[in-house]
Amino acid sequence: MKKLGFGCMRLPVIGGDQSNIDIEKFKRMVDVFQSRGFTYYDTAYVYHGGKSEEAVREALVKRYDRDAYTVTTKMPMFAISERADLKRIFDEQLKRLGVDFIDYYWLHALNKKEYEKAERLEAFRFISEKKAEGKVKHIGFSFHDTPQLLDRILTEHPEAEYVQLQINYIDWDSPTVCAGDCYNVAAAHNKPVIVMEPVKGGALVNVPEAVKAMFLSRNPEASTASWAIRYAASLENVVTVLSGMSDLVQIEDNTSYMSNFTPLDDGERQIVELAAKVIKDNTFIPCTSCRYCVDGCPKKISIPDYFTLYNEHRRMHGHSDSDYYYDNVFGARGGKPGNCIGCGKCEAVCPQKLSIRKYLKQVALEFEK
Ligand code: SF4
Ligand code: SF4
Repeated sequence: MKKLGFGCMRLPVIGGDQSNIDIEKFKRMVDVFQSRGFTYYDTAYVYHGGKSEEAVREALVKRYDRDAYTVTTKMPMFAISERADLKRIFDEQLKRLGVDFIDYYWLHALNKKEYEKAERLEAFRFISEKKAEGKVKHIGFSFHDTPQLLDRILTEHPEAEYVQLQINYIDWDSPTVCAGDCYNVAAAHNKPVIVMEPVKGGALVNVPEAVKAMFLSRNPEASTASWAIRYAASLENVVTVLSGMSDLVQIEDNTSYMSNFTPLDDGERQIVELAAKVIKDNTFIPCTSCRYCVDGCPKKISIPDYFTLYNEHRRMHGHSDSDYYYDNVFGARGGKPGNCIGCGKCEAVCPQKLSIRKYLKQVALEFEK
């Protein structure tokens, strides 16, 4: 299998509405991806407000033979409360995707709380049964928590064949994400790893000018994203790296260096380590734009968009068009950071464990003064 998968969580949308996927554009992206020999697609029940799986059916499943692609999706552990939900959602996913079986099936975003729920509802038993029935080929889970918990889950559930982890060059030694330690735990259990967030929601594409210059001086042809994706793919135990591609330019870029993938050499690795340091010094709110926090917000605050604006605004020392977007674009769609009522629902689902309420206050202070 090639080491690049198509993450279907940042597909092109119409009119800025995340649940209105531009299917025609997505079809063209799928065609280029397939024509270059890539076949792996990763979606989830919750992506794009529940519309990503159907979009995969329209753009891929209806248009290609079943043996021409690999499709994976996930059980949203954070959105279920009783055992009957497992079957209901799984059956719905088969319908949404339009397939008889799913190649890789994951328990989505296990952490301490969701693992306890998974145990109570016997979710691992459920996915193992689906595998025995032939409705799923491989099983595993995606994970956001401590290496200690990962070790416990893999010890208690050796039937999990794969683990999906957030790995990128700035989270490798992060004390909250612990990407490096989690990777080592998976390797110790001989579990192959699928990487998510290799470019950290775009943060490793929109890097400071000093980092761009470092990359260009080593290789003027290589895109900024290529450094992040090749970094993750260079890890021995990684079988594929998911890139959440949003347009044809990204497809063409990502597939160009992943067609005949070469791992980073020692000199490139040193450049990446230096880049990580510079980026960390310039990132104020380390949000990955996964959008898990958005749907549950009673004030409909587009949290990740405001965080992106804030980071951009700080990086540009205030000389950006962030004010316009703040008031007229995101502000027109829902609440502003200053409307936050502090209920904490967003923080309960944030895989990065961000102090969202504190950050929103900071953002409001900057823009709503
Ligand atoms: S704490 Fe604020 S931002 Fe978070 S869900 Fe509640 S109202 Fe929304
Ligand atoms: S604040 Fe957390 S949950 Fe929300 S988009 Fe950012 S990383 Fe994801």
